[in-house]
Amino acid sequence: MIKLAKKVRNIIKYRTFALICVFSSIPFSIFGTIINFTPIVSIIGFSLIVIGIATILIFWKCPSCNRRLPFRFDKDNDFTYTYVCPYCETRFYDDGTMEQ
Ligand SMILES: [Zn+2]
Repeated sequence: MIKLAKKVRNIIKYRTFALICVFSSIPFSIFGTIINFTPIVSIIGFSLIVIGIATILIFWKCPSCNRRLPFRFDKDNDFTYTYVCPYCETRFYDDGTMEQ
């Protein structure tokens, strides 16, 4: 088996960033909309969700085969430091390298 560590776009960082945006929007949304309607807080919460989703749509692609990767949140596999593309089986690390 040939191991090739090559620098690629660090997709795991983008995914982590997107997850942080989406999860941190939850308290804003709850406070801003449900508890006490505060438009500015609701707008911040909504913006975080939009930024998180946009990050996924733009950057959550396999840098090796360029296919859009499935995004489902799985607490056992997300927040990890490696990701394996289900299409080309390239493994990505959070230091921005990949192995084919
Ligand atoms: Zn791939």
